[in-house]
Amino acid sequence: MTTGGELRTTILDARGGAPDRVLFGLWNEELSEALEGFGLLRYRVRQLETALYRQKVAGINEVTTWPNELREKVTAAGFRVGLPEIVETFRSVDGTERYLIAGRDGQTVETVWMPEGDGGESGDGSGGEDSSEAKALSRATICVSSQIGCAVNCQFCLTAKLGMLRNLTAGEIAGQVAAVLRKHDAEPGRDRINLVFMGMGEPFLNYDAFMAAVRLLAGPMEIPESRMTVSTSGIVPGILRFAQEKVRPKLAISLNAPNDAIREQIMLVTRKWSIAEVIEAVRQVPLRQRERVTFEYVLLGGVNDQLEHADEVVKLVRRAQFPAKVNLIAWNPGPGVAFAMPRAEDVERFQERLREQGVPAFVRRPRGRDIYAACGQLKKTGGSR
Ligand code: SAH
Ligand code: SF4
Repeated sequence: MTTGGELRTTILDARGGAPDRVLFGLWNEELSEALEGFGLLRYRVRQLETALYRQKVAGINEVTTWPNELREKVTAAGFRVGLPEIVETFRSVDGTERYLIAGRDGQTVETVWMPEGDGGESGDGSGGEDSSEAKALSRATICVSSQIGCAVNCQFCLTAKLGMLRNLTAGEIAGQVAAVLRKHDAEPGRDRINLVFMGMGEPFLNYDAFMAAVRLLAGPMEIPESRMTVSTSGIVPGILRFAQEKVRPKLAISLNAPNDAIREQIMLVTRKWSIAEVIEAVRQVPLRQRERVTFEYVLLGGVNDQLEHADEVVKLVRRAQFPAKVNLIAWNPGPGVAFAMPRAEDVERFQERLREQGVPAFVRRPRGRDIYAACGQLKKTGGSR
């Protein structure tokens, strides 16, 4: 499966010199094609892939499996790795980190690292001979952006305030993951890394680049697609395409309301595709064994957080007729967004009401609220509060 030519970014160098050719994002035939002029044997291309996607090198000079001469020739021709760069880090009291990561034009996107209790699982006294080598297992979820800003304009979301600035390329989407793994010295395969495409932007409005990034992440970056989840506001044509994919993340739908009337008030996209149309599209996705679709539900105080709303959600999930669960998220406030946080007891009641009626419901713990890293708080804000 190739990812299409749109990935091959050739930008004229600002100094008007050799063209600036970014390698990160290319693999397989694309990489071979880009380097065609060098007469590389297949194994040389593979060595470069390993360097780019496993070692996550920052420069061609770090590709130590290549002879010096080759590194110099490729560099002289204007190629560079172009791994997205973390330009700023905000650290939360709960261990969450939010990064501003610069893409190829210097514009930044947001990526979030959420460590999950990496207790001493490895210290099980099994007495391995090489115990000195054993590095503590990292478990973390990385929240990845797909666009700079977002055009969907949900009323409760801070990212929406940016408007839509531009799409990210596949290399920039997968590159956020590479940059963050590099920073934490984490290795998929050894460490348990989950990805959620729930950062800035609507992945299904940048479909080709998003799916190309998924193939790169699941391919040479070796993160199983079963550890990835993509969230969409309900872009029906995107869901229908997604249903045809062989390699795909799990699916989450931002439901956020029990009916179209309330949903239209907070998610204008409902006017284009109703809840019923979204659910019908989701039904086309062939689920893997034990796979469930997630309905995300942001609880907005007084708007959609009452028991009658919970009862409607139960009916809706039952009618959907596919295995599903509901993730409840208490709304995270942000400047200039006029909603109220739900009361803690309403969140609890809501969850219980779903569970009583057999709908699996979980409350998502807000992470990194103090650094604006929580859901829907991603906007190019400066520091922490
Ligand atoms: N655009 C995609 C993915 C990014 S948003 C989507 O909308 O699904 C990821 C999740 O954050 C969505 O479920 C969205 O409803 C939720 N969200 C947005 N703003 C929020 C806020 N202020 N507080 C809590 N959750 C929010
Ligand atoms: Fe875009 Fe998702 Fe925010 Fe809606 S909730 S504006 S789709 S990022």
